Amino acid sequence: MSVRVRFAPSPTGFLHVGGLRTALYNYLFARHHNGTFVLRIEDTDRTRLVENAVENLIKSLHWAGIDYDEGPGRGGEYGPYIQSERLYIYTEYAVQLHQRGAAYYAFDTPEEIDEMRKRNPAESFTKYDRMLMKNELTLSNVEVMKLIEAGKTFVLRLKVPDSTTIVFDDLIRGKVEVTANEIDDQVLMKSDGFPTYHFANVVDDHLMKITHVIRGEEWLPSTPKHVILYDAFGWDKPLFAHLPLLLNPDKTKLSKRQGSAAVEDFASEGYFSDAFVNFIALLGWNPSADREIYSIDELIESFDIEKVNKGGAVFDRAKLEWINFQYLKQKPVSELTDILAPILEAKDISGFNTEYIEKVIDLFRERIKLVKDIPEIAGYMFVPPQEYEPDYMEKYWKANTIEILKPLLVQYKATDDFSHSALYELTKSYIEGLGMKLKEIIHPIRLMLTGKSAGAGMFETMEVLGKDECIKRIEEFIQKKELEGI
Ligand code: GLU
Repeated sequence: MSVRVRFAPSPTGFLHVGGLRTALYNYLFARHHNGTFVLRIEDTDRTRLVENAVENLIKSLHWAGIDYDEGPGRGGEYGPYIQSERLYIYTEYAVQLHQRGAAYYAFDTPEEIDEMRKRNPAESFTKYDRMLMKNELTLSNVEVMKLIEAGKTFVLRLKVPDSTTIVFDDLIRGKVEVTANEIDDQVLMKSDGFPTYHFANVVDDHLMKITHVIRGEEWLPSTPKHVILYDAFGWDKPLFAHLPLLLNPDKTKLSKRQGSAAVEDFASEGYFSDAFVNFIALLGWNPSADREIYSIDELIESFDIEKVNKGGAVFDRAKLEWINFQYLKQKPVSELTDILAPILEAKDISGFNTEYIEKVIDLFRERIKLVKDIPEIAGYMFVPPQEYEPDYMEKYWKANTIEILKPLLVQYKATDDFSHSALYELTKSYIEGLGMKLKEIIHPIRLMLTGKSAGAGMFETMEVLGKDECIKRIEEFIQKKELEGI
């Protein structure tokens, strides 16, 4: 039997990093087994719908390179893949389930349900009290017919079997056992004619021939209800795998409150999608003990759902940054230029050819976290400095600096070789000839050219800026200083 898995998000906003991890593990599993990866949109909770959520979700999956084989916009044998377009299917299966005696109609009003809950105020969760409420189990057939004919709204509830134990195997957690007494008579069809998550999810997983249900741990408590449904229909169950929770570094559940958790935020912050996916893949699994960097093909090759950890996985931003940095070091410069060019454009920095931008990137790629940091930390590579760090100036700009610089400037003007090594030799021999140390002149030069105390190698920076630009900046600075009388 060929593997079929699905990612089944509810479009309630943006794709959360936990959702991306679920999508990714399903994707890796499908690709590893030459199976099929389905995207199904679970939008039956009409109160939680958010406009454009499906588009955003698909955009984020696309950014991460996770493509699905069947789903919205792509079609497939088992569509439609958006639950709100499948209502007729759920109605049909609801009738079937009812006929099998595994579900019953209930007519309680929301107020009556509230009343019922108030009877046991101490309990955080009150089971539906099936024998005391207004439903098919307590009313006669005639009463039920009357209520339906009178247009009374009703729901369909799961009739959880009495005093049994629900057992299923989880590929990550092993055997899970829950006594039926702990399970609520879940609403399956709501009064608005929409199914609840539980019902639609099981019907669709069955009809879409899903072989493995891989989802977050928060769905583990729902699984016994699903198992009851599969059994009630007499359907084969898929295999289940519940992925570990994602945690903040303080071990609380990862939430939007503690920093960003939407995939699109990471995309717009400038993380590389392949680095981000690499990082996400390691939230709960690592194919080896001594490696962190894997290509998507390597992840597919080694993915093993049974090796996923049970314990929560900490979402560690420092690790994300480290992984992103490993990618930054290795990326072809042309890819980085494609990222930087529009950033420069947005800052109205123009007139630089690709070759120059590439040289700037190579000079700074080991000194930045993200490509977009370049205009922040090395804006002077594009626009002459407007400000000069005052402390740096005070420390390294001496009364005789101009005097020392002038003959050096003459030598810079005269040389045809503006490579960093030639500049180094020339500057060193000049300054040592005066009985001074190289650093005594490097700092003032850095100050004049960049305005900053830190940066890339000074002579490397000069080489990239080029002879004309360096001489212009030095001359203008000296002129200004002379005017100021320093
Ligand atoms: N719609 C559920 C969600 O939003 C799907 C859970 C499942 O995969 O069964 O995550």
